[in-house]
Amino acid sequence: MTNYLSDMETKKCFKCGVVKPLSEFYKHPRMEDGHLNKCKECTKKDAKTRYNILSTDKNWLEKERVRNREKFKRLGYKDKFKRIRKICPLESNISRRLRNRGYDTKGKEAHHWNYNLPYSIFLLSRKAHRCIHQFINVNYLDKYCYTMDGKKIDTVEKAISVFSSILKSNGINEELKVLNISL
Ligand SMILES: [Zn+2]
Ligand SMILES: [Zn+2]
Repeated sequence: MTNYLSDMETKKCFKCGVVKPLSEFYKHPRMEDGHLNKCKECTKKDAKTRYNILSTDKNWLEKERVRNREKFKRLGYKDKFKRIRKICPLESNISRRLRNRGYDTKGKEAHHWNYNLPYSIFLLSRKAHRCIHQFINVNYLDKYCYTMDGKKIDTVEKAISVFSSILKSNGINEELKVLNISL
């Protein structure tokens, strides 16, 4: 009942004084009715005015640019690495297989060069692993990795050559060896 009523509810914007449906007010958890007292239109107008005033300040503009750039970077990275952990995990299965073969997995991550071959992996430090992923794209449909200029990494030889040049150009010295842990 209350839900039904709240859809129909209206309120008066304190700024422009117009009575509008609740959907014309931004949601705000701290407000008694869960919405701001200023309508969306007035809120947008005020934000724009604020921006116009602040943007005449060069220092503010530069700070804002840096802030946005960092925010974008942060979110982008976070999202990308969450996906990497999902597709290049050192999950118990792979970790056990490696340990059984005498590999030291401490501080290492398994990097797949071809997701069609889940047991063909590189054992890398986190740093090297992240570095490689910054310079390749994973195609989630065909499950292959691609270089930034679109070349498909479809053989182990290509994988080693692409990955090692990525690491080298980023000053990371790490041996690249494919481990086959399917057997
Ligand atoms: Zn208003
Ligand atoms: Zn990986």
